[in-house]
Amino acid sequence: LQRVVALAGGSGSAKLVRGLATLTDELTVVSNVGDNLWMHGLYICPDVDIATYVLAGILHRRGWGVKEDTFRTLSQLAALGAETWFRLGDRDLATHILRTKMLKEGRRLTEVTLEICNRLNVLGKVLPCTDSELQTYIKTNRGELHLQEFWVKEKGRPEVLGVRYKGSDRAVATKEVLSAIQGAHRIVICPANPISSIGPILAVRGVREAIVKSRARKVAVSPMLGNAPFSGPAGKMMKAVGLRTDSVGLAAFYRGLVNVVVIDQEDVKMRSDIEAEGVECVLASTLMKKRSDEIRLATKVAGV
Ligand code: GDP
Repeated sequence: LQRVVALAGGSGSAKLVRGLATLTDELTVVSNVGDNLWMHGLYICPDVDIATYVLAGILHRRGWGVKEDTFRTLSQLAALGAETWFRLGDRDLATHILRTKMLKEGRRLTEVTLEICNRLNVLGKVLPCTDSELQTYIKTNRGELHLQEFWVKEKGRPEVLGVRYKGSDRAVATKEVLSAIQGAHRIVICPANPISSIGPILAVRGVREAIVKSRARKVAVSPMLGNAPFSGPAGKMMKAVGLRTDSVGLAAFYRGLVNVVVIDQEDVKMRSDIEAEGVECVLASTLMKKRSDEIRLATKVAGV
C-alpha cells in the first residue's frame, strides 16, 4: 500500500486510521476542524488531536484524550468556578497550551499541527483540512449550538433542524492538503459522521474538487449499521438534511466523490440501492472492537 490519504473525524475514524497505519508508512490524515473551539483561552482541536494521539500511540481507549491522563487541572478549574463541561486532561492541556502559543506567534494551524506531530513521534502526518476558521453549528429547537455544545454540553438531546458550516464561504484548502490529495494512490473516507465530521472537510473550498479530480482509488467506509450509526448523532443529522439514515443515505451523500462504499455485511440487502447511486458496494464486517478488527477492515479498504 502506497500513499494513503484518510479523511477523518474523531474516535470512529481513529480506529480505521490506526489500522491503516499498520499497512503504509505514507499515511496522511486530513482532519475535520469544524469541532474546534476556544476554552479557557486555549484553542482546542479535538479531531486533529485524536488523529495525532492515535498515530503517536497515546490515544486513550475511550477514543479521545491521552491515555493514563489525569484531570486535576479541570477539577481546580471547577473549584474556581470555570465551565468544565468540555473534559480536558492534564497532559492533553499541554498540547492546547503549546498550540495556542504557537498560533499566537503567527504560525499556521497546519505548521503547528505538524510540529506537534513531530514532537510526539507521530508515524505519518496529520493535516487540518484548512487553516481558516470553520465551525460546525447545529440548528436545534433550542437555538443554534456549536457542535461541541450540542454534543458534549447538551449530550446530543436537542432536536436537530439543520447544520451550518460557519466560515465555509471563506475557508480554503491548504497547499499541504491539496498536494497530499494530488499525490495519493488511495483516498479513504473513514467511518465518521458524514454531516459533522466529513461534511466540514468537503465544505472547504478546493477539497472536493481535488478529490474528484484525483485518479486515486476512493473508498468510503460506512459508519452505519441498519438504520442507525454505530454510535453518536449521525442518524439525527442525516435525517435533518434529508438523507436516509443508513448506508444508502451515506452513499447518496458521497455520490460523485468515491468509487466504492464499504458497508456492513449485515446490510447486504442495501447493495442494489447503493449501486443505484452509481458507486460500487463492498461488504465487510465493519465493527471495530479490537485492534485485529481495525487491521482486518483497513486491509479490506486497502484492497478493494
Ligand atoms: P466523533 O463523533 O467525533 O467520535 O467522530 P467520528 O465522526 O469519527 O466518529 C463517529 C462515527 O463513527 C459514528 O457515526 C459511528 O457510527 C462511527 N463508528 C464508531 N465506531 C465504529 C466502528 O467500529 N465501525 C464503523 N464502521 N463505524 C464506527
